[in-house]
Amino acid sequence: MKFFLKNIFFVFCCFTFFSCGKETVSRTEFLIGTFCTIKIPKSKSADFILDECFEKIKTLEYIFSANDFNSELSKLNEVAFKKPTEVSNELLDLIILAKKIAEKTDGAFEPAIGNLVKLWGIGFENENLPSEVKIKKAIEDLSYKNILIDGNKISFTNENIKIDLGAIAKGHITDLIVKLLKEKKVESASINLGGNIYVLGKKFFTDDNWRIGLRKPYEDLNSYELVLSVNNTSVVTSGIYERYFEKDGTKYHHILDSKTGYPVRNNLVSVSVVCESSAYADALATAFLVMGYEKSIHFIKNFSEKKIDAVFIFSDNSYKTTNKSLLVK
Ligand code: AMP
Ligand code: MG
Repeated sequence: MKFFLKNIFFVFCCFTFFSCGKETVSRTEFLIGTFCTIKIPKSKSADFILDECFEKIKTLEYIFSANDFNSELSKLNEVAFKKPTEVSNELLDLIILAKKIAEKTDGAFEPAIGNLVKLWGIGFENENLPSEVKIKKAIEDLSYKNILIDGNKISFTNENIKIDLGAIAKGHITDLIVKLLKEKKVESASINLGGNIYVLGKKFFTDDNWRIGLRKPYEDLNSYELVLSVNNTSVVTSGIYERYFEKDGTKYHHILDSKTGYPVRNNLVSVSVVCESSAYADALATAFLVMGYEKSIHFIKNFSEKKIDAVFIFSDNSYKTTNKSLLVK
């Protein structure tokens, strides 16, 4: 789906009845360039809670979007080379986290990649294969190290730096929605922001884990390759089939290697990361695609901050996982 469809107005609500006589309420809206669905048990306050969740997504989209010229991030990108610029706490928190993950992944997840992303334009009307000269220029001094943070002010050391939070923002927004739902004492919920999933508690009105299908690469959204059984966690997939264009028989997809300036090429087609932090799951799924299988496994083994599991799907359709017990037989 091309991102220029993002202005579609779409709200969809539905109720589901369970055999135990209980009900859930689900709402879907087209926001942050994708379909966002939140499902919670029906109660007197369920509609108000969903209102608050979707308001929050809208507010955060207006802060983090690199595609909306009026967002706080776009405005920061315009001026931060010229002068240190004060940002909101919401944007500051996410830039701090993005820099931290960039450092840990040695720039495989690279939030300063905005200029390169815009140059390729993949998924937008202007998608194209840029000239080598332009690519070389776009990766000059391209590093998260050139995003400077001083208190609540952000500055860039060179003009080529533009922040793009597209590989972490959906995850971070998911974490903030989970926090809101917990504050409202919602005990079980499923959140799906364009495939960025979090399942809270146990599956509705049961003691069972949730089941999450991992989509078959290049096939339609409802064909599942593998099914995971999980709860109280996020599952985020990055895949090279999600957005791409073809030129002269070559596919150019949207996950870029900031060191070469080109879409990543290795034997991975998708990586799904399971982690209680959706922001980490999101950023690491992107980073692992860039790093490749061996480096990612090394990273997971040595990463003590969060428990991370992953499922890697390869171009020959085989897969490997760090934790077989997550898979439903
Ligand atoms: P995701 O779908 O989470 O893997 O994020 C992909 C999006 O993140 C792209 O559409 C770009 O906006 C941005 N992006 C592409 N390559 C990278 C990268 N190496 N590091 C960080 N963000 C990236
Ligand atoms: Mg990501």
